[in-house]
Amino acid sequence: MNQTFNRGCLESIIGTMFSGKSKALIERGYRASEFGGVSVYYFKPKLDTRDVEITSRNGEKAQAVLLERGMDIMEYTQNIPHPSMIIIDEAQFFDESLLYAVQLLRLKGHNIIVAGLDKDFRGQPFGIMPAIMALSDTQIRKIYPVCSIEGCVEDGSLPQRLRNGEPDSALSPTVVIEGSSDDIAYRPVCQLHHTVPDLAEYIENRLETVIPE
Ligand SMILES: [Zn+2]
Repeated sequence: MNQTFNRGCLESIIGTMFSGKSKALIERGYRASEFGGVSVYYFKPKLDTRDVEITSRNGEKAQAVLLERGMDIMEYTQNIPHPSMIIIDEAQFFDESLLYAVQLLRLKGHNIIVAGLDKDFRGQPFGIMPAIMALSDTQIRKIYPVCSIEGCVEDGSLPQRLRNGEPDSALSPTVVIEGSSDDIAYRPVCQLHHTVPDLAEYIENRLETVIPE
């Protein structure tokens, strides 16, 4: 493939839980198919086993294909019309291969919207999302709900993880799906209300793994 013109567009939508991110994705898909006559395909990581649909808070749904690895998207998009719209949700859970897959799809002329969390429950960069944002063409949209602490009016830009109702330790694993173990829950909070026990210890541990050149 030598084509470097007429390439598609890659954009990211960053948002915490309850931000209306799924609604924004469904609306974009609807607009593209209803008004643009473009075929729209939705994908999610298989890890996120909650359901095979992208569901907004007010109940709108889009059927998604669940992918094991990022690169699997190439197989599912092999015979789709050009250009199509490809929408990928919860992309923070995908492996690095998605970074290359979306670039190939963009070179083929498809328009891609990648949505996910840019920060994990510790407030650290989450998986491939920072790289997806770097690859995005013009649009990087960040949408947040209000902080879930009562009386606070700031943006809930960070995912607070609660384990049995208490802020979870930074030393816990990065990926723990809500409802999968103990009593795990997530809620969006602002910088001020984001509480992560052992965060300094976690960052010190990470610092020690950096090998100076
Ligand atoms: Zn707050």
